[in-house]
Amino acid sequence: MLEESVADRPNRRRVPRATFDESRRRIAAASRHMPGGVSSNFRHGISPTPLVFDRAEGPWLFDVDGNRLIDYYLGMGPMILGHTPEVVRAAVAAQLERGILFGGQSAVEAEAAELFCSMVPCAEKLRFAGSGSEAVQAALRLARAATGRSVVVKFEGHYHGWMDSVLVSVSATPQTAGDPGHPNRIPGSTGQDASAWAAVDVLGWNDLARVEARLAGGDVAAVIMEPAMCNAGAILPAPGYLEGVRAACTRHGTVLIFDEVITGFRVAPGGAQQLFGVTPDLATFGKCVANGFPVAAVAGRADLLEQFATGGALHGGTYNAHPISMAATLATLRALADGQVLQAIEPHGRRLMQGIAASLAAAGIPATVSGFPQIFHVAFGPTEPARDYRGLMHMDRARYVRFCCALLERRVRVLERGAWFLCAVHDGAVVDETLAAVAEAAGEV
Ligand code: PMP
Repeated sequence: MLEESVADRPNRRRVPRATFDESRRRIAAASRHMPGGVSSNFRHGISPTPLVFDRAEGPWLFDVDGNRLIDYYLGMGPMILGHTPEVVRAAVAAQLERGILFGGQSAVEAEAAELFCSMVPCAEKLRFAGSGSEAVQAALRLARAATGRSVVVKFEGHYHGWMDSVLVSVSATPQTAGDPGHPNRIPGSTGQDASAWAAVDVLGWNDLARVEARLAGGDVAAVIMEPAMCNAGAILPAPGYLEGVRAACTRHGTVLIFDEVITGFRVAPGGAQQLFGVTPDLATFGKCVANGFPVAAVAGRADLLEQFATGGALHGGTYNAHPISMAATLATLRALADGQVLQAIEPHGRRLMQGIAASLAAAGIPATVSGFPQIFHVAFGPTEPARDYRGLMHMDRARYVRFCCALLERRVRVLERGAWFLCAVHDGAVVDETLAAVAEAAGEV
């Protein structure tokens, strides 16, 4: 018997494709007052249009066209408990009754700091900040202040925020990248002050010998890296790599900074440093810390952090440790502390990773699905997990964007750069619905 196609099944309701005309219209109107109609370049230029949302709940976004979308953006990562979780809403509502901003300390801030330090291996002390970009700047300042050196080593394809000093070689192309052994240093924006990144050296990641050779000069203040690459791909450290970099930094008096803005409170309650068992001197956090409220932190060795109190290093910010955000932080970290929430995501993440890989293979699309169950990456083109940024430079981005559009028409929203963020409320039913959309979308592109 011929297998009937899905469309032929008599009692199956045919769901019309989602359309986004109202979003398109509103973005055009908003463009009169905001460049591109958006407030971040990472929300601009998205196909078929940047979306405008009305509300969010659980694993879903509701847009102004009336579509209910399964969301794997999760606000670019932060919503680890899902959208609008009751524990966070209640904590925030209670704190709102007590006031909004004090220009001083709050009780909830000290409690959040204590819990944070109990969860993160490197965190003897911390300072809260307003964004990941700011936390990174604070970490670099601490490292330079402590060592009296200025050179910072970063890695190709690693993103540490949009500031002049670190927006270097984040998205090199085959045309601009240069020799893999000595990558070109490429600014990420026009208008960037070249002197701000004059002391930044760029290396390929996952190559221990190169780090060891560079640090031997004794002039490097800090090595900063995403301990697992999550902005370009979701690439794991090679066995022994983190340990080797740790040892080299200790040997040469260089401060090791893990940028855990994505991995923190997502891949384990204590971040990638806990998962891989390698403790940096400093680490930066953001995103999952407060389930969507604007909180970031620089954490690490007490002697380094103490420079902000007694060592002449300055760290400021009107909104640092904002009481409302601190209430969200405390509620979020309490929910994550025993690890059960992150563990519960794992079977769903694994099933999604395997299901996507199977659908792409069945459709004849060469691809790799790699990373963690809580944050993974789908790359069209390469058929083996990448080891570094170069391994992903030849991805078929155009085809992946078509795949994202085909998914969006089927009411599943994923990032065009290939990342999929999971949260506590992506349950079995949501994964089923997603995999059905993936199978259809793969067939279409
Ligand atoms: N570091 C990493 C690893 C990030 O992923 C990001 C943001 N995607 C940042 C820093 C910057 O954080 P923010 O956008 O909060 O400034």
